[in-house]
Amino acid sequence: MGLLSAGTPLSWDDTKKVADHIRSHGITQFLHIWDRLKDKNGDELLWGDEIEYMVVVLDNKTKNAKLSLRQTEILTKLNSIVNNLSLETEDSIAIPTFHPEYGRYMLESTPGSPFTGSITDLLSVEKNMRYRRTLARKYLKPNEIPLTLTSFPRLGSPGQFTEPYHDPHGAVSSHSLFLPEQITNPHARFPTLTANIRRRRGSKVAINLPIFIDEKTPRPFIDPTIPWDRSIYAEDPEAKNGAALPDHIYMDAMGFGMGCCCLQLTYQACNVSDARRLYDGLIPIGPIMLALTAGSPIWRGFLSDVDCRWNVVAGSVDDRTVEERGLKPLEHDRFKIPKSRYDSVDLYISEHWRNRPEYNDQPVVIDPCIYNRLRQHGLDDLLSKHIAHLFIRDPLVVFSETIDQDDKESSDHFENIQSTNWQTLRFKPPPPKSPIGWRVEFRSMEVQMTDYENAAYAVFITLLSRAILSFNLNFYIPISKVDENMSRAQGRGASQSEKFYFRKDVCPGGRSPKSSGSSSPVDESRPKDRKMRNCFPPPEIPENGVPQGPVEEEYSEMTIHEIINGKGDSYPGLLGLIWAYIDTLDVSQQELSKIHSYLDLIRRRANAGSLLTPATWVRNFVRTHPAYAHDSVVTQEINYDLIVAVDEIERGVRNVSDLLPEDYTGGEADGGSTSP
Ligand code: ADP
Ligand code: MG
Ligand code: MG
Ligand code: MG
Ligand code: MG
Ligand code: MG
Repeated sequence: MGLLSAGTPLSWDDTKKVADHIRSHGITQFLHIWDRLKDKNGDELLWGDEIEYMVVVLDNKTKNAKLSLRQTEILTKLNSIVNNLSLETEDSIAIPTFHPEYGRYMLESTPGSPFTGSITDLLSVEKNMRYRRTLARKYLKPNEIPLTLTSFPRLGSPGQFTEPYHDPHGAVSSHSLFLPEQITNPHARFPTLTANIRRRRGSKVAINLPIFIDEKTPRPFIDPTIPWDRSIYAEDPEAKNGAALPDHIYMDAMGFGMGCCCLQLTYQACNVSDARRLYDGLIPIGPIMLALTAGSPIWRGFLSDVDCRWNVVAGSVDDRTVEERGLKPLEHDRFKIPKSRYDSVDLYISEHWRNRPEYNDQPVVIDPCIYNRLRQHGLDDLLSKHIAHLFIRDPLVVFSETIDQDDKESSDHFENIQSTNWQTLRFKPPPPKSPIGWRVEFRSMEVQMTDYENAAYAVFITLLSRAILSFNLNFYIPISKVDENMSRAQGRGASQSEKFYFRKDVCPGGRSPKSSGSSSPVDESRPKDRKMRNCFPPPEIPENGVPQGPVEEEYSEMTIHEIINGKGDSYPGLLGLIWAYIDTLDVSQQELSKIHSYLDLIRRRANAGSLLTPATWVRNFVRTHPAYAHDSVVTQEINYDLIVAVDEIERGVRNVSDLLPEDYTGGEADGGSTSP
């Protein structure tokens, strides 16, 4: 979540009345940024991660693991600690920043200032993440732990799953049957988002995940824990009137999705066109990394048949009306919209010739007036479509104090719409009046239980982003295939059992960069880089015109193992490409071995099961727990033992050689200390 402005939130009816004002001034604000910064060039590689935690309280007497609702107190404490730290050191990266998130049990941390392109910074990310976690741990109560779990297994289960306990009867914003009002960050933005999504949609959100059918799961599975006959809110009968499907785990509130934790990475590009190239390059990578980082097999106390959060979050903020969802003919609304505001991106945006129009093969709903306005201002077709697509959405939260703004100075209205389009990638324009450049945020990954793993994924994506730009890699496949991959990525065990559409020939001119090989497209005579560069010469012009072969012949279905580790002689795998890129860098033996330890985790997670995904590990833990009745139910006791195990894994006191490398100790990959 972005910065929290304070003020008086408008009701949904009043928000609707100013929606056009917000959109129109949002576009004006974007155009001011565009005019000023479209030619901004030469920005260095700066990048940073965001890690989200859930604070869990262990009650060892009753053997219950609950979510601690002390976010406000914890953040106040952490921020005062951080302020004091900054008086003591000049090293701004080392001073972390802690942010609020949707859940009142959540924290987010980022490095205090972004990392640079130096290898030293790249390899300090784990230490930085650990330090952030250590700080959080240190200032929590003794029985509270900051866990990096994607979803809390018993969120919304009957009985006590928060500390303190609150009854869902009082859920005035969500009207949920399961989640109390107090699950949500009390800042006006969050209850307002929750309530306005429900009001705009005209019903509660409805998420149905297929339940994992185990030996003794009753069939059909009709969830006995749903209070089917409650009658407090007008929406209460929705569950029995069809919103809750048999054989599914039903969820009815924003908190189930936005209460999940993830790992995000943001990269500053050299200029706007490189940002667009990087954005496109990472689009097909989104679903692959979702499958590989899968970490969330349990929902509302039941094992599900999915391993990932994605569709839950998408459903949890799906504010489309029945007309927009295509269930009724358009009468009051302007567009039929295929996806939630939280979903995978719909459009490649690079103007490079490699981006063939055929790849943008999905209908992209745009606001035609906004599109025309952007085109008349001189923007190209693709970027105009991108923005006009984001701007089909209404603002969800508007504060009465900030409706009128100076559009030259502010980007609030632009960000209002931009930051409530939660997609796999985000193209981030520079904020007005800041030195920050054009950035790309990679958003699909699930958070991992340890910072060693989170660092490994951060290092992997950072190096991949450099390989994409420096080798001018071509990952394009039709967007419809990326969408199909998103859906495949979430299934149980997808990283081992599924195949994904992926491009066969990703290297320019068919020359495959090989680590230490002779066929690298990189100039061998050029001195090696001491830093990861950010600016690259303009991509080459095709010698024989733009390729015209059938798009269908450019991709095939591959396993995650093949995509990551390579297939045959022609496709070196994402790791092969990364190693070829590392060959262009001037790195020491010690640095190489640290990079190797991170990339080897990715290699082993991908290679058909030599290491499990967190989701598979968690599922196995439940299914082999002595108290598990093989009925898909994750009881309070199993949940408690699971949470204790996750904490022990993180601290390195529990050995899990099917999840982590044998030598994982809970210390840093190279055995370094945990202070900055
Ligand atoms: P949001 O929640 O809107 O995605 P955050 O501020 O929480 O944004 O996190 C953004 C990430 O981007 C942080 O890791 C931060 O260190 C990093 N970052 C900050 N400035 C830059 C920059 N100029 N270029 C790239 N990354 C940056
Ligand atoms: Mg966040
Ligand atoms: Mg953030
Ligand atoms: Mg955010
Ligand atoms: Mg973010
Ligand atoms: Mg972590």
